[in-house]
Amino acid sequence: MNSTIICIVCPVSCPVDVEWTREGGVSGIKNHLCRLALDYVESELFDPRRLLTTSMPVDGGDWPLVSVKTDPPIPKHMMLEAMDEIIGKRVKAPIKVGDVLMKDLLSTGSNVIATRNVKIA
Ligand code: SF4
Repeated sequence: MNSTIICIVCPVSCPVDVEWTREGGVSGIKNHLCRLALDYVESELFDPRRLLTTSMPVDGGDWPLVSVKTDPPIPKHMMLEAMDEIIGKRVKAPIKVGDVLMKDLLSTGSNVIATRNVKIA
């Protein structure tokens, strides 16, 4: 098969032409500026992952919500299930950037971590 996949590893956004099969993997790529494209297109074709960003309600904080993200990215097909898992969970202040608020989300090996500080109110 032939596909064109936009590499989003950096802002250049190369439109990478890929020759591949499900059984044999990637047999050739063209139109890319650097070697990072190969890992990216292989992941995008065979195990696409995305960073999930959302927020969680905070009890006792100087902000009502804390922004969070999954670290590392989770399988793309699990995004809705992951949101269902996070919705309804509350966390307690104080929270620091990088704190793990949920461990091993849906057994993906990915944690939900805080991306801002929230002090005690
Ligand atoms: S192939 Fe390299 S230069 Fe092009 S978008 Fe990907 S990382 Fe950037």
